[in-house]
Amino acid sequence: MAVLNRLLLRVGARATTTSHSKFRAFSSSCSIVNPEADLKASPPSSSSSLLGSKLLPLRQDHHHHPVQWVFLGCPGVGKGTYASRLSKLLHVPHIATGDLVRDELSSSGPLSSQLAEIVNQGQLVSDEIIINLLSKRLEAGEAKGESGFILDGFPRTIRQAEILEGVTDIDLVVNLKLREEALLAKCLGRRICSECGGNYNVACIDIKGEDGSPGMYMAPLLPPPHCASKLITRPDDTEEVVKERLRIYYEMTQPVEEFYRSRGKLLEFDLPGGIPESWPKLLQALHLEDHDDKQSAAA
Ligand code: ADP
Repeated sequence: MAVLNRLLLRVGARATTTSHSKFRAFSSSCSIVNPEADLKASPPSSSSSLLGSKLLPLRQDHHHHPVQWVFLGCPGVGKGTYASRLSKLLHVPHIATGDLVRDELSSSGPLSSQLAEIVNQGQLVSDEIIINLLSKRLEAGEAKGESGFILDGFPRTIRQAEILEGVTDIDLVVNLKLREEALLAKCLGRRICSECGGNYNVACIDIKGEDGSPGMYMAPLLPPPHCASKLITRPDDTEEVVKERLRIYYEMTQPVEEFYRSRGKLLEFDLPGGIPESWPKLLQALHLEDHDDKQSAAA
């Protein structure tokens, strides 16, 4: 960690570089001496400061300034679904560190079997490994002329949030929230098409309202016929591992919510149900309009 601290200070000094190249600068100076010795994340630091919240400075100029947003939320909440929809709407890349980790796993590189063990137990991989993967992804995007981003699954520790803060400005952090009883069912119902990578969900969530608390219905998101025979389940979507991922979220990632709340950047969003109810409300909360969605709804 001390090494990272020194590196971060060095990166912070390069104030004139662009955000992506700052990441690259971080990454290149971050080349780890012995990555295999430190693949798994260490326990959380106690340095998270809990300050009062400020008003949220929502930018209104998405068309001129490519957004730099972060999506936070428990496993199964739907970060990938909404981050990916917004990235298409706002023409910025959706960068999910979970996807980067899974790509690395399937590449059968030297680290992949050790990474698989960590991920399949629901643990976090080390900040260094994640920063390296993310830097490579940003660098590749920059070479293709990408700008802005919606990050999904990063930062997931206070340390990662501090590193990110040291290299670029985040405009907004959307904290997606869903009732606890729906999260496990959503993870267990998740299916992925092994051919096109499409994400589906076979769970039908129907929570009855009781004692004044409202019910909630989330329809399954079924695959089209050409994907139906090619569906796979993520190895870390078993009941035991999802429970561990939730536990780790509360321990390591929930403090990141407070990190951004105290900086006035956190937008709390309670998902009211499935995509048809939630998407328009999320757009409203973000002061955005989806003309395609309106047209298809009107058709
Ligand atoms: P989830 O559905 O739990 O949000 P993701 O698909 O985002 O899961 O990530 C899958 C796994 O990849 C995580 O359980 C963790 O092992 C690893 N991972 C992804 N992002 C990070 C990160 N920022 N820091 C550490 N580990 C990460």
